[in-house]
Amino acid sequence: MFIDSHCHLDFPCFATQLAPLLSQLEENRITNVIIPGTQKKSWGAIQQLCSTYTQCYYGLGIHPHFLDTFQADDLLFLEKSLITADKKCVALGEIGLDKYAQADTALQENVFIKQLQIAEKCSLPIILHVLKKQGRVLEILKAVNFKQGGVYHSFSGSYEVAMEFIKLGFKLGIGGVITYPNATKTKKTISRLPIRSLLLETDAPGSPLYLQKGGFNCPLNLITIFESLCLLRTESKSCLAAQIVKNTTSIFSLNND
Ligand SMILES: [Zn+2]
Repeated sequence: MFIDSHCHLDFPCFATQLAPLLSQLEENRITNVIIPGTQKKSWGAIQQLCSTYTQCYYGLGIHPHFLDTFQADDLLFLEKSLITADKKCVALGEIGLDKYAQADTALQENVFIKQLQIAEKCSLPIILHVLKKQGRVLEILKAVNFKQGGVYHSFSGSYEVAMEFIKLGFKLGIGGVITYPNATKTKKTISRLPIRSLLLETDAPGSPLYLQKGGFNCPLNLITIFESLCLLRTESKSCLAAQIVKNTTSIFSLNND
């Protein structure tokens, strides 16, 4: 079995085909999906979706790309929502820093740090979004002494940086980047990482795979990403798949009975 640890199933492009898509995932042994929250106005719909579909879990958070509608009391609402959330809520996220986001650095960092404090208060792991800001995110995690860990989603980068995040309690979300022939550094990193640090994700509908037509990503592509991962690793396919499910259920405390 497989779990897509990062997929935006709440985005409008999936709305009309959600039930058939989820049964297709099931047929391909993708048994669970984790849906990260990106902004306050999407949280209600995500919670609704996850109460309808038993295989879906979620996180709530404010993504650096969605700060244009941000208001200070969104953070209070976030904390309240996490405290009163049902068991399907398994993380705070996705949150982080992004060099290419429109919001300025000060606002991004402020919202990120406040969400780290909320995660700490609520004892929740986080789903991290980091683009060209690895050093700064590491600095902040250390400065606030963040202890809940979580997932660095859609990881790319060096072995040394990956190990720094792992030391701080993070697992690494492995996505479509490894299907690109020129992603040599990231592929080399992923071939060396401890198996216990690996998670699989599509980040659909974003992060299209290499040569994917139309640029539209689908959670069914998780299998292709897994096949690419197998080429980088020495473990057997079944061992790799089983350990990745274990990693995912443990970091998000999923109850898979
Ligand atoms: Zn995402």
